[in-house]
Amino acid sequence: KRNVLIIGAGGVAQVVAHKAAQHNDRLGDLHIASRTVAKAEAIIETVHAKAAMKVPGVFQAHALDAMDTAAVVALIKATGCQIVINVGSPFVNMPVLDACIQAGVAYMDTAIHEDAGKVCEAPPWYGNYEWKRREACKAAGVTAILGVGFDPGVVNAYARVAEGLMDTITSIDIVDINAGSHGKWFSTNFDPEINFREFTGTVYSWQNGAWQSNTMFEVGQTFDMPVVGTQKAYLTGHDEVHSLSARYPQADVRFWMGFGDHYINVFTVLKNLGLLSEQPVKTAEGLEVIPLKVVKAVLPDPASLAPDYTGKTCIGDFVKGTKDGKPVEVLIYNVADHKEAFEEVGSQGISYTAGVPPVAAALLIADGTWDVGAMANVEDMDPAPFINLLNQIGLPTRIKDASSDRLLEF
Ligand code: NDP
Repeated sequence: KRNVLIIGAGGVAQVVAHKAAQHNDRLGDLHIASRTVAKAEAIIETVHAKAAMKVPGVFQAHALDAMDTAAVVALIKATGCQIVINVGSPFVNMPVLDACIQAGVAYMDTAIHEDAGKVCEAPPWYGNYEWKRREACKAAGVTAILGVGFDPGVVNAYARVAEGLMDTITSIDIVDINAGSHGKWFSTNFDPEINFREFTGTVYSWQNGAWQSNTMFEVGQTFDMPVVGTQKAYLTGHDEVHSLSARYPQADVRFWMGFGDHYINVFTVLKNLGLLSEQPVKTAEGLEVIPLKVVKAVLPDPASLAPDYTGKTCIGDFVKGTKDGKPVEVLIYNVADHKEAFEEVGSQGISYTAGVPPVAAALLIADGTWDVGAMANVEDMDPAPFINLLNQIGLPTRIKDASSDRLLEF
């Protein structure tokens, strides 16, 4: 058994806390630390309200500035945690990873590190910060699983499954569709600052053996998805395009995210007016404001969307390649339901799909299966135990090929 420290107390942390509590018989004491301790305490209250703790045990909240590596090391030592699930904002990733290396405990996150001072990181994403710590992880024997949410995360494991079905992979198209409805006139599903940052910069994809650049909403394509039907999605830059293109340099690797016309209209207006800018402006009254912060302040708090969210998400990998000289194609995917997620853990479906995988990874580290003592992206790991476990704990995987559409089990 290994004690677990969850860092961050936002939408994804809520899911991680519930799922870790449901499996604390295989983990150990649970701790959650965030900048605002009240948010961590509130999450623990919702865990107790759902009676989610599998066995009575410790679940404690702590105030922590995760940018302060020494403070993170001190908390790891004080709590005796051996696994850190970092689901704080992406700015804290490297300070937390450094703390785990110093303390000699397992680390995982669900997004690449971002420098708070930059608008958006450019490729090679994992090469900018994470992979520079690879040697240090190895020397310390520290298991660090990078990007183990849904995308990045489970979609990387799906690519690895496809690798086993083909002789060569020629393309990986990761498609993320949220066909749910939150009932608000406009809202982002995550922190608007993070959400808009993803879409204001250059869109990078890996095609013809090189990085290609486009602008957001420039390249759209319609995909026929199970359950959610025909959906328009747009080429978007995403962490996993980098690590997957490093493993499959011969393949085209693209990430597509579904957007409705309404979202695109609102985004375009905000952007063209300069309201997504992080540069401060002065009002006529002499007040200095950052437009993006003002937009965030007037938009709904994404956490408030969960109770009324209905509909489903469908995220999957369309993988093409060849087998015995013939072209083959598979779709490996998951469908999640917003309402079911809310009823189980009090969160919307997108947080659910991001929060369950790191708990699966923690369970696999705790039982030794994934405790590799080195830094790894999800596609470096054996996908079979991960996918089997996800099938059991709320995120079943299906595979669709020319012959059938079935549950994927190993
Ligand atoms: P939220 O913004 O809801 O939560 C972030 C949390 O981090 C907040 O509780 C915040 O504290 C805390 N935090 C920020 N700075 C610090 C600090 N210096 N010290 C301690 N705590 C801090 O984010 P989400 O839950 O939506 O997302 C969490 C992570 O998951 C992000 O990295 C996101 O990119 C990633 N993600 C990954 C997905 C995937 O599928 N791979 C999908 C969705 C998200 P406070 O409350 O005080 O602001």
